[in-house]
Amino acid sequence: MRKEVLLGDEAVGLGAIHAGLSGVYGYPGTPSTEIFEFVERMARKRGDIHAHWSTNEKVAYEEALGMSWAGKRALVTMKHVGLNVAADAFMNSAVTGTNGGLVLAVADDPGMHSSQNEQDSRYFAKFALIPCLEPRDQQECYEMTMEAFDLSERMGVPVMVRLVTRIAHSRAAVQVTETPREQNPLTPDKDIRKWTLLPSNARVQYRLLTDKQPELARLAEESRFNVLDLRGKKGVIACGITVNYLLENLPEDHDVSILSLGHYPIPAGLVKRLVDHVDEVLILEDGYPFVEEMVRGPFGLPQATVKGRLSGELPRTGELNPDLVRAALGLAPHDGTREPERDVAGRPPALCRGCPHTDTYRALNEALEEYSRPQVFSDIGCYTLGALPPLEAVHSCVDMGASIGMATGAAHAGYNPAVAVIGDSTFAHSGITCLLSAIQQGTNVKVIILDNDTVAMTGAQQSMATEETLDRIVLGLGIDPEHFRLITPIPKNHEANVQVFREELAHDGPSVIVARRACIEKVKKQGR
Ligand code: SF4
Repeated sequence: MRKEVLLGDEAVGLGAIHAGLSGVYGYPGTPSTEIFEFVERMARKRGDIHAHWSTNEKVAYEEALGMSWAGKRALVTMKHVGLNVAADAFMNSAVTGTNGGLVLAVADDPGMHSSQNEQDSRYFAKFALIPCLEPRDQQECYEMTMEAFDLSERMGVPVMVRLVTRIAHSRAAVQVTETPREQNPLTPDKDIRKWTLLPSNARVQYRLLTDKQPELARLAEESRFNVLDLRGKKGVIACGITVNYLLENLPEDHDVSILSLGHYPIPAGLVKRLVDHVDEVLILEDGYPFVEEMVRGPFGLPQATVKGRLSGELPRTGELNPDLVRAALGLAPHDGTREPERDVAGRPPALCRGCPHTDTYRALNEALEEYSRPQVFSDIGCYTLGALPPLEAVHSCVDMGASIGMATGAAHAGYNPAVAVIGDSTFAHSGITCLLSAIQQGTNVKVIILDNDTVAMTGAQQSMATEETLDRIVLGLGIDPEHFRLITPIPKNHEANVQVFREELAHDGPSVIVARRACIEKVKKQGR
């Protein structure tokens, strides 16, 4: 065994490679991006692993499922809200089942450091009736990913590895194997019925999935990642990273009974043994009160009193940390513990100096001065920061692609001008179908595509629809070429750009304005 210092994300990537990975798929999204990027770097050196970003998470998931069908091991990565996009493929892949191992590494963002919600992906695993592994540290990121592939092939289902931001983005020494597994040979699945979810087949497949549940539950009961340590009458169930927060607050000779959870479905037998043994149980989970709800039950308490996020011992929202856990345990704060919020001035994120979006927004703001209600629907990217002072140019951000859809709906309601702002990569991800709909309906929307030639917000990954490719897509969707305009957002073009916006705002029908200038971070990265 040798050691490497790895991010949690990187440990997942290396675990997948050492498990015989043949392909990695994904769409960038904090805090999951580094899983893909790690495998991509290794793949470039090795040449025998497919690694190319996909257009969106659903595409990524389907590509991974295709590799699984072909008998090879596939890893698909995304952030928690990305799984909403991939949900159709994800849910149905549990019903088709797998051939080669299929592992979904999904990174949740409790506390919403870089996300619009803090949904907990463990619910998705339960929803799809598949196992979920939740590492407590970087070593488990590595080992669980390897075991997830074995479990996927053994049970014929996809397996989720659920990370949270603090695991994904912190480093630790990880012991890694000297003898990685070979890749699977190409062995396409011949079972046509299994992969063709016509209702008659789907009923059979769904029954097979439900029939697997007792065995999946037994494997969770016996998993080495679920550890019960019975001691005193005070009990704690600690999930994933919270095991560390707990142990950091307890002396080695503590008398707390602990169930450390890292393998779901929730091992009901282990939970019952703990609950029967203690007078009260505190439940620690970085995410929703997923375990707490189930232990508490819908109609009241089991033998022990259940404490956690629902009872108020822990905050209902946001990340946990060692100090919050300490308080929930009833321990006095450490001497000198201070809340960083009191000592550190707030530094809201801002667009980079010289960012092309700034020039676009200045021109747009000026053109919109003629209108009394200048609502601008935005999407998800660096350009969302245009919502903040001093620009205050955009006024919504809901999900990938929502800018065009919401502007279209607002226009249907009679709102004018209905303006949408979307980046080139987000347009490829989820904007194309919305624009097609708006154009085909002849809706009076103004769509501004900020083409900065990259996926800037997550570190300048490759965009699928930029420059001529983007132009051909937009024209192919049926926009009137007279109302397909191109501007270059630089200060010296300001007046000309304001004029283009004014003209298209005055047009009664769909318009697309592409503001094209490369992200300066991307240009720097290319230079490096
Ligand atoms: S990374 Fe690029 S797109 Fe994002 S704010 Fe900076 S210059 Fe603008």
